[in-house]
Amino acid sequence: MKLCKFTFNEPLSLHTSMKVGGPAKIFARPQSIDSLICCYKQLPHSKILGKGTNVIAPDEGVEAVITTLDLKRIYLLEDGKVVCEAGTLLNSLCKFACQYGLSGLEFAYGIPGTVGGAVYMNAGAFGGEIGQLVDFVEVFDGEKVLTLQRDELEFSYRKSIFQKTNWLILKVGFRLKFDDPKQIAKRMGEIYKKRLQTQPLDLPSAGSVFKRPKPDFYVGKAVESLGLKGLRIGGAEISKKHAGFIVNVGNASANDVKALINFIRQKVKEAYNVDLEPEVEIW
Ligand SMILES: Cc1cc2nc3c(=O)[nH]c(=O)nc-3n(C[C@H](O)[C@H](O)[C@H](O)COP(=O)(O)OP(=O)(O)OC[C@H]3O[C@@H](n4cnc5c(N)ncnc54)[C@H](O)[C@@H]3O)c2cc1C
Repeated sequence: MKLCKFTFNEPLSLHTSMKVGGPAKIFARPQSIDSLICCYKQLPHSKILGKGTNVIAPDEGVEAVITTLDLKRIYLLEDGKVVCEAGTLLNSLCKFACQYGLSGLEFAYGIPGTVGGAVYMNAGAFGGEIGQLVDFVEVFDGEKVLTLQRDELEFSYRKSIFQKTNWLILKVGFRLKFDDPKQIAKRMGEIYKKRLQTQPLDLPSAGSVFKRPKPDFYVGKAVESLGLKGLRIGGAEISKKHAGFIVNVGNASANDVKALINFIRQKVKEAYNVDLEPEVEIW
């Protein structure tokens, strides 16, 4: 079995895309699926971290974090199915699928997280959702390894069964369709261009802060309509480019971000009588 690397009092601001979060007393980087399971058995109350692109980690820190980032092997099966380890970056998976002429994941190109984080969140963009492509997920439930089929995973808009369990996502199998790699690459390029045009990718953020509360309610537009673009609390700012994002404009704390989230919720509730639910995971 490959080993697990440990560091102590590791600042989570180094491991979250929002660049906030105090120390993890224990920070574990398992080097294989077996050692991930072993770590989880030893540290059952650990927080699981992929690329940290959807997490607001607390300023006071946490006891223990296990990151999947070193578990990134991708396999192509004979029947065209793709299986990858939970720490595989979505972008690497998209490029792999494109190389082998496998289509379906184009919408996900540019989502900066891991496959484990994407399945946990049922990440989606431009009309696609990761859950639609999942064939099976191999999980560790704290005692044993199970293989669950897509219809057991309760995928819906930014939701999955993983949000109400403590299961560890180990590997994910995808069912994709064959297509011309050049066409797939073209679609990926177009999607990426749209992201560059609309999202504040030059500043630290955790992506869209809130879920869309109903299909025809666009949070960014609502926040913009209230004149809140550019509003700051400490180092956290409502993005001037996309009001659905909060960006870290310099040394924001997690408390700054959380205060800004609460402020936006309150203003949107007052103006539109709509309750916003965070899409970001607030630890
Ligand atoms: C600039 C930017 C753009 C974004 N655009 C999009 C977008 O278009 N669509 C979208 O849906 N999201 C978007 N996001 C949010 C984010 O990238 C996705 O939700 C991503 O899938 C999260 O993956 P991660 O590895 O970073 O997860 P993390 O942030 O590390 O973790 C998220 C949650 O998943 C859990 N988790 C992670 N791995 C596992 C595992 N192996 N087993 C069990 N639980 C696990 C964590 O405990 C945590 O609760 C964006 C973020 C940024 C910064």
